[in-house]
Amino acid sequence: PVHAGAKGKSAGHNVDMGDVRGSGRTRTIPQKGMTFPRGHNPPRRKPSAINGLPDASCARQHRQDIKGAPIMAATIWYEKDADLSVFDGKKVAILGYGSQGHAHALNLRDSGVDVVVGLRPTSKSVEFAKEQGLEVKPVGEAVAEADVVMILLPDQYQAAVYKKDVEPNLKPGAALAFAHGFNIHYGYIKPSEDHPVFMVAPKGPGHIVRREYAAGRGVPVVVAVEQDPDGKTWPLCLAYAKALGALRAGAIKTTFTEETETDLFGEQDVLMGGINHLCDLGFDVLTEAGYQPEIAYFEVFHELKMLVDLANEGGLNKARWSCSDTAQYGDYTSTVITEETKKRMQYQLKRIQDGSFAKEFMDDQAAGAPKFKKLQEEYSHPHLETVGPKLRAMFSWNNAEAKDKDEAESFNGKIARTQVQ
Ligand code: NAD
Ligand code: MG
Repeated sequence: PVHAGAKGKSAGHNVDMGDVRGSGRTRTIPQKGMTFPRGHNPPRRKPSAINGLPDASCARQHRQDIKGAPIMAATIWYEKDADLSVFDGKKVAILGYGSQGHAHALNLRDSGVDVVVGLRPTSKSVEFAKEQGLEVKPVGEAVAEADVVMILLPDQYQAAVYKKDVEPNLKPGAALAFAHGFNIHYGYIKPSEDHPVFMVAPKGPGHIVRREYAAGRGVPVVVAVEQDPDGKTWPLCLAYAKALGALRAGAIKTTFTEETETDLFGEQDVLMGGINHLCDLGFDVLTEAGYQPEIAYFEVFHELKMLVDLANEGGLNKARWSCSDTAQYGDYTSTVITEETKKRMQYQLKRIQDGSFAKEFMDDQAAGAPKFKKLQEEYSHPHLETVGPKLRAMFSWNNAEAKDKDEAESFNGKIARTQVQ
């Protein structure tokens, strides 16, 4: 079993992991329905033919298989498990002021942490950050005075900035922190062994991380420690998560490998690459069949939010519970997601695990991102969006929603965020 790993006590603070775990303050949450011993797999049933199609819904097949999943338990930490005094006399440099950067800098500052933002002097975000009362310095200078350096630059630029501005300026023993394991896991950044390396990865977009903190709540995070040279990395990691507001919701223990691979899988195969294409395809099928685009937009896209909200509150059961019997029956018997989909997901996962997705992305970026830019341009005009703006204007509550300054000024309806250019 994985171990929290803290060896020594941080001077004067009682937040080393032995303490946290020993006092019974961590919680172990066995996952529901997973009652079979590790490695036990019930025999697979043959998918039956439905509506004349050769294979049955993968979702149904999957439900029959789930009992065979290994028993897993997660370690979760909350507010009481971390001590902000870890930051006494310490300075945190936040590199980047984009989606995550602005949220981390503002939340930590509002939690009483001494924060400096590191940016290129030419960055448009310099003004943003200063207006919000933050100290801003060039990356190298911010790093030079920091005890903790949180790298919140786009993943594809981190390695170059690390080589040029971070590594040469890093104080002895200063900690390096990340919000995603990509660069450490795939070896694009290789910090020397004497630096603590940890991760606090919010499971939500940066703008929500800030909004929730301001509302007195928090977005959950996953946390990991990759290097722990001084035995104090876990208390530091949890204190960071606490200052971010995340422990109000909870921090789940993970590893850089697990976070990186599952995060990439989730975004490319379900949350974005799955859902986005599914909605767009559904819209095409309806409009090509002659239905009005406005109606199609409502049916395949708009209502998704309401179902996701219900699922967020009470899981898929609540989302299904709120829908008509007709809708439920259609859901259960749908043949759209098949065994083939599952095979494709497994193929995508393999490409994440063996590094070929990361390599493809990073090689394209190194060449000036020709493929990425072409795709971004192509996908800026999904068919759905021919009617999207008109219909979204009908929802008055969308306009009244609290948006922070960064979001209000940097989202212009296009995919690329202005401050990144
Ligand atoms: P972003 O693109 O929104 O912002 C990046 C920031 O870095 C901008 O302020 C930009 O000006 C600055 N920057 C870019 N190149 C730079 C350079 N060469 N030198 C100095 N500054 C530079 O990035 P993001 O989406 O916030 O992602 C940051 C990290 O957080 C990534 O590791 C990402 O995987 C992770 N993450 C992001 C989200 C999210 O909500 N977007 C969620 C979880 C984790
Ligand atoms: Mg993610």
